[in-house]
Amino acid sequence: MNPLQYLVFNNRYATLSESFHTRLDPTPVPDPYLVAWNPDAFDLLGLQHDLAHHPDFVAAFSGNAKLDGSDTLSAIYAGHQFGHYVPQLGDGRAILIGEAAHPDNGRWEIQLKGAGRTPYSRGGDGRAVLRSSIREYLCSEAMHGLGIPTTRALCITGTDMPVMRESVETGALVTRLSPTFIRFGSFEVFFYRNQLDDIKTLADFTLTHYFPELLEDAKPYSVLVREVTRRTAILMAQWQAVGFCHGVMNTDNMSIIGLTLDYGPYGFMEAYDPGYICNHSDHDGRYAYDQQPNIGAWNCTCLAQALLPLMELEDAQDALSIYGETFATEYMRLMCEKLGLPFEEESAPLVTNLLDLMAQNRVDYTNLFRSLAKFDSGEGAVNSAIRDQFLVREAFDAWASKYSERLRAIGSNDEVRAVRMNRVNPKYVLRNYLAEVAIRKARDERDYTEIEKLRLILSKPFDEQPEFEDYAKEPPDWAKSIEVSCSS
Ligand code: AMP
Ligand code: MG
Repeated sequence: MNPLQYLVFNNRYATLSESFHTRLDPTPVPDPYLVAWNPDAFDLLGLQHDLAHHPDFVAAFSGNAKLDGSDTLSAIYAGHQFGHYVPQLGDGRAILIGEAAHPDNGRWEIQLKGAGRTPYSRGGDGRAVLRSSIREYLCSEAMHGLGIPTTRALCITGTDMPVMRESVETGALVTRLSPTFIRFGSFEVFFYRNQLDDIKTLADFTLTHYFPELLEDAKPYSVLVREVTRRTAILMAQWQAVGFCHGVMNTDNMSIIGLTLDYGPYGFMEAYDPGYICNHSDHDGRYAYDQQPNIGAWNCTCLAQALLPLMELEDAQDALSIYGETFATEYMRLMCEKLGLPFEEESAPLVTNLLDLMAQNRVDYTNLFRSLAKFDSGEGAVNSAIRDQFLVREAFDAWASKYSERLRAIGSNDEVRAVRMNRVNPKYVLRNYLAEVAIRKARDERDYTEIEKLRLILSKPFDEQPEFEDYAKEPPDWAKSIEVSCSS
């Protein structure tokens, strides 16, 4: 009997023709074992928690056994990588095992990442390593905890099969969930191959299943571009406001429904530096923190280009034109919220001046905003706990007096403001060193408890959780040598 049988599959992507994917089975791995499982994602699928420890579970989510009703395939896509068009990418190591329909929690496509070679592997081994699987698992759940749209993570399975990267590493698979894994690059591949019917088929599929409300429109394809552009602009504002750097914003990593997708060499900003480059392989800083909003817009242009055969140029331009204003408005709204200020013109200089000061003083992004909830707006208050985070204390004083003046002018109550600010300024983010500790314990000691501990803490990033105070600390000295690159 298959204990996972009540995962009811209804595989819509698999109904598309062979232009869109290749059917294949995962390649089995030797002696798979469970590394981590996420009860929140189990709930999304309606899976009972005790199934995690059933041998069939590990077999299914390491690619060693097939679930009833699943229809395994890898999808084709292309994309602009670091600004250059690459005509064929695709799921080089990911296999969609199906789409599970839950009566209350909607539909979730389930994808194994690291499931073996596919026709899109381009010389790669089709595998993922434990290190990068832990990073993807933890970050997608951390982003969800922060309220930022993202794919989710169900579990990690491991295998002692060695996987070669810069050195020999432990192999693993991470199982991801998303309503869909369609990317901007899923459209680009057909545009550049001049397969115009396939562009239309995929656009219709996307509209029907993920944007049904747009189907009524007289120009559904351009409103689709407009809606994806809007979601992308808002996502970029959310990334910027929380200090998240994606690291590889290629168009094949951009979700058509506006989720954060494909966690590789990402990083959360620590010492604030607008030019921060989290990806060690990004030598020119194309995807530096302060470039992300522009790259988001550029990527939307690539999407519009791919859909151009379905619309008038003017309509495409019109759809794209909303990006700038949408991003700017949402970003400033979020930043005002982070300062506990109303979203109005007078608040803007307080935001920009503070960021300038933070950059000059390399202040920890997360901790500074979190600490501002305790800002005393009384006349003459010193606020030393905040002030001491700046190298040049006097520079902070000048800003602080303007901030407290403004707070008094609007009649802000410090206690009420503190509660509001703590709901938008996280105490805990997935700092690289935190992930690194969990990775080292898993790799060197087969101790997976730190992964679960981090998942739990990061699922409630706005709660004080005083027992985990240490997890809000700035990186220790040893963490300076951690480098994350595209290798995964
Ligand atoms: P990424 O930079 O992770 O978004 O990957 C870019 C492309 O390379 C995608 O088409 C991936 O499927 C593919 N890829 C990455 N790593 C591997 C691997 N180890 N084996 C096969 N394909 C891979
Ligand atoms: Mg990718």
